[in-house]
Amino acid sequence: MTVVTRFAPSPTGFLHIGGARTALFSWLFARRHGGKFLLRIEDTDRARSTEAAVAAILDGLSWLGLHWDGEAVSQFARRERHAEVANAMLAAGQAYHCYCSPEELTALREAQKAAGQPTRYDGRWRDRPASEAPAGVKPVVRMKAPQEGETVIEDRVQGSVRVRNDQLDDMILLRADGTPTYMLSVVVDDHDMGVTHIIRGDDHLTNAFRQAQIYKAMGWTIPEFAHIPLIHGPDGAKLSKRHGALGAEAYRDLGYLPEALRNYLLRLSWAHGDDEIISDAQAIEWFGLEGIGRSAARFDFAKLDSLNAHYLRQADDARLAELIRPHLEKTAGRVLTPAELDLLTRAMPGLKMRAKTVVELAASAGFYVATRPLALEAKAAALLDDAARQRLAGLAALLERQETWTAPEIEAAARGFAEEAGCKLGQVAQPLRAALTGSTVSPPIFEVAELLGKTEALLRVRGL
Ligand code: GLU
Repeated sequence: MTVVTRFAPSPTGFLHIGGARTALFSWLFARRHGGKFLLRIEDTDRARSTEAAVAAILDGLSWLGLHWDGEAVSQFARRERHAEVANAMLAAGQAYHCYCSPEELTALREAQKAAGQPTRYDGRWRDRPASEAPAGVKPVVRMKAPQEGETVIEDRVQGSVRVRNDQLDDMILLRADGTPTYMLSVVVDDHDMGVTHIIRGDDHLTNAFRQAQIYKAMGWTIPEFAHIPLIHGPDGAKLSKRHGALGAEAYRDLGYLPEALRNYLLRLSWAHGDDEIISDAQAIEWFGLEGIGRSAARFDFAKLDSLNAHYLRQADDARLAELIRPHLEKTAGRVLTPAELDLLTRAMPGLKMRAKTVVELAASAGFYVATRPLALEAKAAALLDDAARQRLAGLAALLERQETWTAPEIEAAARGFAEEAGCKLGQVAQPLRAALTGSTVSPPIFEVAELLGKTEALLRVRGL
């Protein structure tokens, strides 16, 4: 059997973090088994579905590197097929027309409430002949659901879950206007798409019972279900924006790398021993539904930060230079030159060791492409008193005569100068840092000087 999974978002908003994790698990499971990962846009709610949301979801998935197989399927476009299945169920006696008016249903509900009973449709049209149909009323199509026994789902995460069939009423499959309901559409689509494993949030667990009944009525194979626990905030409460309930693009804007987010989301409710850092290749090799925990996962930005720092250190330097580019261009209000991008790439090994996010990385790299005179941070300005400026002028004169310009040579010159002047190396190096970077923290300063180049470095020292 070829494994087929799917991700089935409703395009009513961005690709939120819970959806991203569902997509990741479905993607990994398919890749693990050499199967297919399909994408279906559940756009039947025409009032709430937007093109912008579809675009945001596709964009979010692509950014996360969760590439789906084939074309994305529109659920709305398949509505005639959904209706066809409802009609087949009618023809097979698995469904029936119900002519209840909204008023009648309201009255039924009120009576049930008053009697302290659960409110559900009582099946009054289940066995009534069509000859009794009131004139001019368009019926809905309801499923003739089993009334005895129970429906059991062997969920791959939740275990065996069951409901008594008398707890479920005859659900509507087609509305009076002929449009299919969500419950029907999902089942028909999953069946037609050949989905073998449905991995989704456990907020859909109760839907699975009704969906299983439709599969049975049609004589279709019920897919494997894996309902994964939702993501909560660090305090155990429902995930709020502050806790990370953001769209995928928000994580990109906050400076997270897609591979870090993948690793983080994977670890959020799935474990492989004590492994924290898990590459894509390992994830694909190891991932299985049995590793998914049953309790709600807790979102934790600190953990995501530390994973992101790890992946930043691993990332290709030119890629990181490209990633910080828009941030720097925004701050500078101009386009960076190819030479500046090259400088940033060469400077990256020293920069990426210290950053947790792309945003931090950009902030720490800004001085490389800053224009003179550099804006000095308060601490840096305080450091550059008269004595420090005098030492820098002396150092500059010495460095001017330097023929080759490498970090060890610049450092040797600074050491020689400090010795001559009877001061500590730090008393020369710190002012130099302030002059070259505008800050009191930076990558090793002699490396910075080398990377800036002799001309620029000396201009920065002299331009104070
Ligand atoms: N469209 C549903 C949602 O976005 C998912 C349905 C499913 O996975 O079966 O929550």
